[in-house]
Amino acid sequence: MDIIHLLPDSVANQIAAGEVVQRPASCLKELVENALDAGAQRIQIIVQDAGKTLLQVIDDGKGMSYMDARMAFERHATSKIAQASDLFSLHTMGFRGEALASIAAVAQVEMLTKRPEDEVGTMIEIDGSKVVQQEPVQAPNGTSIKVKNLFYNVPARRRFLKTDTTELRNLITDFTRIALVYPEIHFTFVSEGEILFDLPAVSYKQRIESLFGKSNKTNYVRQLVEAHTSTPLVEIQGFIGKPENASRNPQQFLFVNGRFMRHPYFNKAILTAYSGMLPPDRMPSYFLYFTVAPDAIDVNIHPTKTEIKFADEQPIWQIVQAMVREALGRYNLIPPLDFNREGAIDIPVMSAHNTAVAPPQMHINTAYNPFEGNRIHDYTPFLPTPAYPLPTQEMRDDNTAAPTAPALFETTDGEASCLYKDKYLLCPCQQGLMVIDSVRAYQKVLYETLSVKWQDKRGTMQPVLFPEVMDFEAADTQLLLDMMSDLNLIGFDIARLGPNSFSINAVPSQLEASAGAQVLMDILHTVREAAGTVQTQWKQMMVSTIARHIALRKKALTAVERKDLLTQLFALPDFALTPDGKRVYFLLTDDQIAQYFD
Ligand code: ADP
Ligand code: MG
Repeated sequence: MDIIHLLPDSVANQIAAGEVVQRPASCLKELVENALDAGAQRIQIIVQDAGKTLLQVIDDGKGMSYMDARMAFERHATSKIAQASDLFSLHTMGFRGEALASIAAVAQVEMLTKRPEDEVGTMIEIDGSKVVQQEPVQAPNGTSIKVKNLFYNVPARRRFLKTDTTELRNLITDFTRIALVYPEIHFTFVSEGEILFDLPAVSYKQRIESLFGKSNKTNYVRQLVEAHTSTPLVEIQGFIGKPENASRNPQQFLFVNGRFMRHPYFNKAILTAYSGMLPPDRMPSYFLYFTVAPDAIDVNIHPTKTEIKFADEQPIWQIVQAMVREALGRYNLIPPLDFNREGAIDIPVMSAHNTAVAPPQMHINTAYNPFEGNRIHDYTPFLPTPAYPLPTQEMRDDNTAAPTAPALFETTDGEASCLYKDKYLLCPCQQGLMVIDSVRAYQKVLYETLSVKWQDKRGTMQPVLFPEVMDFEAADTQLLLDMMSDLNLIGFDIARLGPNSFSINAVPSQLEASAGAQVLMDILHTVREAAGTVQTQWKQMMVSTIARHIALRKKALTAVERKDLLTQLFALPDFALTPDGKRVYFLLTDDQIAQYFD
């Protein structure tokens, strides 16, 4: 006798439900996603007993016809895709056509739905896959689905549910992941008759504030800075937390094409960008929204899983990291470098007796009286076009004419310069007012110091306690192998673990151990970008990259540090350009300044 037979639909659906509907939260996610796919502007969620007794989702979307209301509960019934190839151009949250069938197999479902173009709507009631009744009724536009007594017919599963507090927390977690992506939609969430969330349509930033601002006394969004990047592979927008607001319990959210995703690899890219900036045990918050071509990701994974596979993970890793660092840099969140810390580079203090630099000259016109004469004539509220030349490429390239060290102007309290926006040094000198980029100046000075140090002596290595393993693309592996002896000379100890896999066992003692991977990636990048350079220049590039890394992490300079920095900078034969050819300062001459007051 043959023993194989097809399972009745109700049983098949119940088995499928085990996959799709594990708890009230998965049910909520499916229903809200359906409402979003239906173009709803307003979505209300009502739960009782953490969704175990009742879970209701009401939307004002496009509704369903009488026939579709019935079809929606069939397995593999969907309006969203028609053929396999549609899977690669998905623009909806759902596509499996499994959710409603699964939910209806393990609960008592009551749905009310009406399309705006119809006169009457439809009511349908289904218990454990069986249609109890269906009839035309008066209904508002949109759809309301009540899921009652979840798992009433699967006692084992019902027992498996956690306490109401835990399940409610799960509901809120899944709700939050959706609400963050759709700030333009008005959501309300009512539990036991109490409004937990009422989130009107707002911007992304305000949605973050309304979700997380409550538990944070301060203005939450002030702790975030904007980050964005646009490349052919991926477009990313969002917010990252300031390092000083890093916490033990950060809010970390990644989304791709409107879906929440978990992506440990990209999370690592973000954290790497923060390396050296975070207090121990603290992590930054982030809310980043990725947009990629639908065929560049594989969402066809398990319905309840949030891991998403990307086709181009490695390049995106770099894009993410660069974007975060750029954002941190743009907002001047470059962290403090503790000068007293071991291993930090210190700039040797030059005493006044050091003859390398001309002693400062006083340049104060004591006879000047700002109120003398009628100077404020012909006042125009608009700034004149700058009379000084803005830096041009030629000026950058022109490093033949070595500038003469400006004589420092010293004020009575010994401050040689003033720090503007934590970044620029305003430095009056005999020729006029110099505006110096402090990071570049610091990079330049460090570069010279380190070059001399590493010229004929091997750099000191600092062993890494937990060596980081890095995987490279074949081309980068080759480049890395070619650079290995130079990297070694400056203090890197890198071991090859596999064909394209390496571990960083030691870093130059001037770097923090945790910065090794990031600096190495930077060096690779710099050398790769400077295609055509001869190998003899590589070491310079490495030194320059390390110097820039340290300089970027230097906190706002104190008066003494500023003075030392300038003293050392001006002692260099050529201080106009950084080793990578960027201008270090520009000069506003006295004449140019005077022109502004003509
Ligand atoms: P999927 O979302 O994967 O298509 P579902 O089982 O979740 O599968 O839903 C089946 C179908 O029912 C959907 O394709 C859609 O046409 C319809 N549907 C479900 N929920 C709604 C809703 N809230 N508003 C309008 N149509 C809906
Ligand atoms: Mg669905």
